[in-house]
Amino acid sequence: MTELWRLTAHDAHEKLRAKEFTAVELTESVLERVRAVEPKVNAYITVTEDLALQQAREADTKFATGTATPLTGIPLAIKDLIVTKGVRTTAGSKILGNFIPPYDSHVYENLRRAGAVMVGKANMDEFAMGSSTEHSAYGPSHNPWDLDLVPGGSSGGSAAAVAAGEALGALGSDTGGSIRQPASLCGNVGFDPTYGRVSRFGIIAFGSSLDQVGPIARDVEDAATLLDCISGHDPRDSTSNPEPVADLRHYLGRDIKGMKIGVPKEYFISGMEPGVTARIEEALKLFEHLGCVVDRELSLPSTEHALAVYYIIAPSEASANLARYDGVKYGYSDRSRGSMWENMEHTRADGFGEEVKRRIMLGTYALSAGYYDAYYLKAQKVRTVINREFQAAFEKYDVVVTPTTPTVAFPLGAKLNDPYAMYLNDIYTLPSSVAGLPAISVPCGLSGGLPVGLQIIGNFFDEPRIIQAAHAFEQALGGGNRLPGL
Ligand code: GLN
Repeated sequence: MTELWRLTAHDAHEKLRAKEFTAVELTESVLERVRAVEPKVNAYITVTEDLALQQAREADTKFATGTATPLTGIPLAIKDLIVTKGVRTTAGSKILGNFIPPYDSHVYENLRRAGAVMVGKANMDEFAMGSSTEHSAYGPSHNPWDLDLVPGGSSGGSAAAVAAGEALGALGSDTGGSIRQPASLCGNVGFDPTYGRVSRFGIIAFGSSLDQVGPIARDVEDAATLLDCISGHDPRDSTSNPEPVADLRHYLGRDIKGMKIGVPKEYFISGMEPGVTARIEEALKLFEHLGCVVDRELSLPSTEHALAVYYIIAPSEASANLARYDGVKYGYSDRSRGSMWENMEHTRADGFGEEVKRRIMLGTYALSAGYYDAYYLKAQKVRTVINREFQAAFEKYDVVVTPTTPTVAFPLGAKLNDPYAMYLNDIYTLPSSVAGLPAISVPCGLSGGLPVGLQIIGNFFDEPRIIQAAHAFEQALGGGNRLPGL
């Protein structure tokens, strides 16, 4: 029974059902892989080995009693801002280094109900602020395709775990690209659902009007299965949408003849890597070959403003969300300084990393009385314009197709001291986030031996059509689950 960690979740499910192996054997295979490669990859902040084996035993009981579902016994990596009862949850920060949550997040509750297995809590940029996982207080993760390169971020640990065989699938979170960009850089499928599709109850907040949890997977089918499991209304999150949830697996294997695809001009900028441009051009030809109508005349003129809008709104919301970490109620605390105010000041100065402090300062500045109208209010107005441009596009097109990132994975350290260069990674993922739209990144080949991602953006709650397009594309390309020879 070798290398079970190479299987997709759906293949593993078939074989578990056929009793070719047990959930405990599958989990042991993944844990063995973790022991072998984790010293090089650092995909996890915490590996929950004993818990994983206990959950695997419970999964085997579900198979024995006929109550198994597609995720029963499937070993997963869970981003470390997803709250898990009794299991340390750090959000990649020193300030939450000792936080053991007393409750479960909605998404983890759903996974547990399905009988999924948690291998561990995945590494991430502190409070999900970053594009390389280098802003983690627990050391950077490495890209399994080339260990000298970043895996992307902020869900870089989740993506690296899936690519390295340290999990069969993962949950990440996306505020401005943090699922799609690392999925693209690690050769995975990453799906950021419509804002409101997945409950944020128990998700450590960064930018509350932008944050969404979603899957990082080996192929489109697994992404659909994971998203099906975590979607749905939850009264504990007031922005959780009551719309009925479509069964995404239902949209696999359908043909996409006649689908209307808009390709926005503004997404083909100078500075894009030639190998990325080439793979995207080939992808568009493949869509035409599949019978789609591909129109290159779409224009989304406000695309260039999405970065500025995002870097006002996200830090503003973050500055409010992060005010609670004061060393008084929970988390890291420095009580050695004398007055309460001094203790708070030192707790925050010590507990937060540089990037987080930068965002808090940006956000408090943008929200301050004298500048609120000039920055925050203006950003919200431009956000509405970006949204309207997308809505006009969806009157003409079923989906909008773009690259996920302008380049493939870059070397560790290359952008660490240049925040703006780091922010530019998300130039193609920010616009749909700002609009609250669903978008997937699906692998579309290699450039210089490294994965390139194609982004498919849909209208609000049109996850089914995105899955349909992404699955048809992936199958035409010869299928998913391409793992690097780590
Ligand atoms: N890289 C972007 C940032 O640093 C997006 C992060 C995210 O989606 N969480 O804010």
